[in-house]
Order: sequence, then C-alpha cells, then structure tokens
Amino acid sequence: MSNEIKTQVVVLGAGPGGYSAAFRAADLGLEVTLVEARSTLGGVCLNVGCIPSKALLHVAKVIDDAKEMASHGVTFGAPEIDLDKIRAWKDKVIGQLTNGLSGMAKMRKVKVVNGYGKFTGANTLQVGDTTITFEHAIIAAGSEPVALPFIPKDDRVIDSTGALELKDIPGEMLVLGGGIIGLEMGTVYRALGSKVSVVEFADQLVPAADADIVKAYTKYNSKNFNIMLSTKVTAVEAKKDGLYVTFEGKNAPANPVRYDKILVAVGRKPNGNLLDAAKAGVNVDERGFINVDKQLRTNVPHIYAIGDVIGQPMLAHKAVHEGHVAAEVISGLKHFFDPRCIPSVAYTDPEMAWVGVTEKEAKEKGIAVETATFPWAASGRAIASARTEGFTKLIFDKETHRILGGAIVGINAGEMLGEICLAVEMGADAEDIALTIHAHPTLNESIGLAAEIYEGSITDLP
Ligand code: FAD
Repeated sequence: MSNEIKTQVVVLGAGPGGYSAAFRAADLGLEVTLVEARSTLGGVCLNVGCIPSKALLHVAKVIDDAKEMASHGVTFGAPEIDLDKIRAWKDKVIGQLTNGLSGMAKMRKVKVVNGYGKFTGANTLQVGDTTITFEHAIIAAGSEPVALPFIPKDDRVIDSTGALELKDIPGEMLVLGGGIIGLEMGTVYRALGSKVSVVEFADQLVPAADADIVKAYTKYNSKNFNIMLSTKVTAVEAKKDGLYVTFEGKNAPANPVRYDKILVAVGRKPNGNLLDAAKAGVNVDERGFINVDKQLRTNVPHIYAIGDVIGQPMLAHKAVHEGHVAAEVISGLKHFFDPRCIPSVAYTDPEMAWVGVTEKEAKEKGIAVETATFPWAASGRAIASARTEGFTKLIFDKETHRILGGAIVGINAGEMLGEICLAVEMGADAEDIALTIHAHPTLNESIGLAAEIYEGSITDLP
C-alpha cells in the first residue's frame, strides 16, 4: 500500500546536519519530515564516526595513563582486554545518544520516515512506497569512506566503520592514510595491543595542519607507531596467512610486508550523486558535492544542502551550524552561514587542534602574520601531568595584532581550542588575550601566556 505525506520541510539524512536542521525548523513552527536510511538517527557521527571513535579513544587513554603511572610510583597489572565488553560500552554510548535524538524528534513532532529517499521531481521525494510532497527540502546526505580500487575485497581490509566494529585485535595493522580518522583509530588499536604502522603519501601526517604541531605529535609517537611518510601503497596481495603490501617512496620497505589487517583511511566522498538530484533540477558536481550559496541554497531556490555533501571541512560542528542556518532561512529569517573560523581537532595522543588561518595558509595567501608560541615545557600543569611535549601557538595579523588563528598540540588541545575560536570570532587582539586572567595552573594558561610573549611582557622562557 502506498503512503502519501505532504510536508512543509523535508530533510534528507539525519546526521548532525539533518537532525539539527529538522529540530530548528520544527522549533520555528514548521511542519517537518526527516528521512533516514539507517534504523537510528544521528548519521555517521553518532553511529559510525565521532562518538564511537571517542568512546574507544577513552578506553585507549585509560590504558595508556595506567601504564604511564608506573613511572610515578603506581603500578597496575597488565590490562585484560574483553572485546565484547568494550564493544558493549561503545554501543551503549551510541544508543544513549541516538535514542535521545529519537525522543527529541518525537517531542517536536518531527515525522521520521525510515528508508532511502530519492528525488522524483522538484517537489517530490520517493522513500520506498512513500511519496513525500514538500515545499522546501534540505539535503543532508553526508559522505562515505573512499575505497581504493587496487586493494582486494577481503574481510581483513577495513574502513573506519569496520575498524569501529572492533572484531578483533590484529597483531600487525597497517593504517593507510595518516589523516585524522586513521590516526585516531590507530591510537585505539595500538593501545589495545596491535603493532600499528602508518603510511602517508604526503611528507607529514595530517597534511591540513601546520608542520610544527604535527612534528611534535610525530616525535612523541615515534615509539608508538612505525610511520612511513612520503610513501604510498602500490599493491596488496591477499594470501591465507596475511595481506602482503608493496610500498613505493622515500621510506618504502624493499620487500612486501605482511599485515593481519589494513585500515583504509584515505578520505571520504560525498553522497550527492546517489539522490537522483537531477530530477529535482539540483546540480551535483562530478565528485558528488552540491554547490550552495551563503544561505545554503542550491541552484533550485527551495532546495537547500548542508554538511559533508556540500564540501570541506567534513566536520559535524560545521554541519550543525549549516543545518540551523538552512532551517532559519526557510522560516523567513535573514541568516547566513558566514563563520570566521571552523575548528579542527585530531583526538589523538597528544591531541592536535587548530583553527582559523594556519601559518601554511597565510604563506600561500600572502597574509602577513606573526606568531607567538608557548612551550608546555614551561607550563606547571603540563609538568605536573608529565606531558610537556605540547605547545600553544597563536597567529596574529602583523599590522593590527588581531588574532587570526591558533594551533595547539598536547593533551586536551581540543577542549582548549574553544577559547581561541571565540577570540578569532570576536576579533580579539593580542592585548585582549594577554589581559585576560587565566586560572592557574591550567593548560589554558598557555593561551594567555603566548599572547603575553607576543606583547613582549614575558621574555624569560626556559
Ligand atoms: P552524515 O553524518 O554523514 O549523515 C548523513 C545521513 O544521511 C546518514 O545517516 C545516511 O544514512 C543518510 N542518508 C544519506 N542519503 C540518504 C538518502 N538518500 N535517504 C535517506 N537517508 C540518507 N567530525 C567531527 O566534527 N568530529 C569528530 O570527532 C569526527 N570524528 C569522525 C570519526 C570517524 C570515524 C568518521 C567516519 C567521521 C568523523 N567525523 C567527525 C566526521 C563527521 O562524522 C561528519 O562530518 C558528520 O557526520 C557529517 O554530518 P552530515 O549531517 O553531513 O552527514
């Protein structure tokens, strides 16, 4: 039996972008239908992305911290790993959040339709046997991992979703791609007992970040990972006893190397090509991205797009803010998506976090900047935590001394970054930050101290 739904706003995809848009539109009094192919809300982020990876990184951190304690006089026994319980913990975290979203949808009377939606016209979508007629649509279809065609299909070759399933702990694991997702999952498997190698085609890990913060991360982790930079994988042969990988490049081993598992983490591709968007007149580029204006409108004025499907950076918090703007514009508010900066965080150990203009970008774009760095070797809190490998860097406009960006490498860098985001967004200058009294002893102090160094009021660092 076919169903018909008429709605003011249909949202296609219930990830961070989609549910945020749907909830904001409903809060603004619009009648909303949310279409989602998965059985739970939350998209990649809650089901197979941000949240499960952080639940597992929490486990990894406790294991590492317990080991490290031995050098401060407290020795714990070797960890006993119960994979079923770790998986259950991760699934509980996911369930708590996705169920929470279902409750929030219900509370707002957002109608949730389960199934894969495709456009059939400029005002119609088909989801299984349900036809949805809409006044406005928001495409929030997200992205999926890129697969490499030359790698054989094999259970031992996994992507981030497979890595989060945590089926086993391989003895030897290769992480193909030294970006954020690969390093986070590598951190988890390394802490659980795998020997992890990372191969990266570029000459540094996390190529988007400034070289200095990545260098500090890489130095700290030289004992934890076998890192092969400026190197690529050219072939993988699946044999009974393992996956044999051939490398090429600066740090390539001479002969094929055997691994028990390969995690392919070479990026994500947008889902724009899977929606029959052309039937609604919406342009999708050859890579699957959908172009939008600053109000998140596609080339079809009553159809909007948000999140990973509209481009980089593919991050949940960007999708959330875009979702809010799209919903507000549909409800008649004159809002724009025009942030000064969008933060990036690698929740690795140590964490790497950066926001606004990077030094690399300033150089490329010819922006005259000056930087100030506070080394954590001089931070009481970092010393007391035995984690002095980090540093905090602020990037200022050379002429106005306004803060344009910043980067932190060290424990809790992601939490600390918020202050720099606010400073950039508010247009603070070095004096504003230097005069702000930070609590002592905190790692956040390093932000104020970096600004004081820039202002010239501190000159005697070790
Ligand atoms: P998605 O979350 O991709 O959701 C899209 C949803 O749409 C999916 O549920 C999909 O099933 C559904 N869908 C697609 N097409 C259709 C259709 N035609 N019909 C019905 N439903 C459809 N970002 C961060 O900011 N911080 C992190 O720490 C972080 N960690 C990550 C870790 C991993 C392992 C991964 C893979 C990603 C991580 N990300 C992180 C990225 C983050 O998950 C994405 O940027 C975010 O989920 C994008 O949100 P979205 O709303 O655009 O789409």
